Amino acid sequence: MTDSLIPYGKQDISQADIDAVIDVLKSDWLTQGPKVPAFEDTISAYCGANYATATSSATSALHIACLSLGVSEGDIVWTSPISFVASANCALYCGAKVDFVDVDIDTGNLSPDALEQKLISAEKTNTLPKLVIPVHLAGQSCDMQAIAKLAEKYSFKIIEDASHAIGAKYLGKPVGCCEHSDITVFSFHPVKIITSAEGGMAVTNCKKIDNTMKLLRSHGITSNPTEMTEPSHGPWYYQQVELGFNYRMTELQAALGLSQLTRLNEFVAKRNELASIYTNEFKHLPLTHLHQSTQSYSSYHLYIIRLTGDAVKKHKELICSLREHKITSHLHYIPIHIQPYYKGLGFREGDFPNAIEYYNTALTIPLHPKLKTSEQAYIVKKITDII
Ligand SMILES: *Cc1c(COP(=O)(O)O)cnc(C)c1O
Repeated sequence: MTDSLIPYGKQDISQADIDAVIDVLKSDWLTQGPKVPAFEDTISAYCGANYATATSSATSALHIACLSLGVSEGDIVWTSPISFVASANCALYCGAKVDFVDVDIDTGNLSPDALEQKLISAEKTNTLPKLVIPVHLAGQSCDMQAIAKLAEKYSFKIIEDASHAIGAKYLGKPVGCCEHSDITVFSFHPVKIITSAEGGMAVTNCKKIDNTMKLLRSHGITSNPTEMTEPSHGPWYYQQVELGFNYRMTELQAALGLSQLTRLNEFVAKRNELASIYTNEFKHLPLTHLHQSTQSYSSYHLYIIRLTGDAVKKHKELICSLREHKITSHLHYIPIHIQPYYKGLGFREGDFPNAIEYYNTALTIPLHPKLKTSEQAYIVKKITDII
């Protein structure tokens, strides 16, 4: 039926997006101009947060977010094993130690119960985390109220890795409002909900955290006299007051992101519509999709199904055979703790049993705003035939 590969996710670029980027190319500023602050202001207003810092990627945003919360050598950071490696790597960049909290098998999100149990043991051994990074898998928020309550009791900080979740809601408010966290990070990689080609954003309600992130994004350099530690030498003067990086977003990226943002709600609505068609079509098959909490409105970055009963035996076969039929099925994610690098740090497969069970039963099937009705029907038919 189909000649071309159906990808699991894909960007949707309009003529307006293209024009916005071309306008920047014809302007005076390719970087450090007006588009980046405009993108930041629009995102913070959309999320209902006070401040936003645009970066070169979500990975760089996670890195400077950790640093701005004071994560350093000797600290411990916990995150979910069912995530992209960046959620854990950011802590290692700061010299901290990483550990994981097992997931809730039905949602794939970090389990507040597992978190509480782990905190109780960590308190006894004096190994409490400084920071926890919950990941909103596939665009559904974690149970942030429960996690924030534990943060208060055990005094750790929270960064929400919302790389999948721009446009999602939790308890009726936009993910990114930071009501239950210190910082929320978004990704604008092309497979995500909106794109700036590469790019990320860290939002927060705290001015001090935001200032630190803006300093670290650009070498730790300031031209603001009130941030300087010594008197200015003259109008050419700037000071380096921290050890930062070049993690800046370009004007081209910000213009693309800003233009995409005007269609964010439309994209998320379309993703929800396509997801509910899948959910309905699969009702009678031996599989479930990620359980959706009533507290949450997912942005549906991914549509993930989990095989049940005897169908579990066909897990690998299903992914391979969908690919043979030109349907890109994927697996989000290989548990981070079984990556060779993390095994080298001492993690063993059995450390997080739910993550492993999830890995052995889950697969991602195509979902993006440009997915056609005929393609979706073809995908449903193939899955039904195979299992
Ligand atoms: C994509 C992704 C990242 C990294 O995003 P980049 O913008 O590519 O750096 C981090 N965490 C999660 C959960 C992601 O899906």
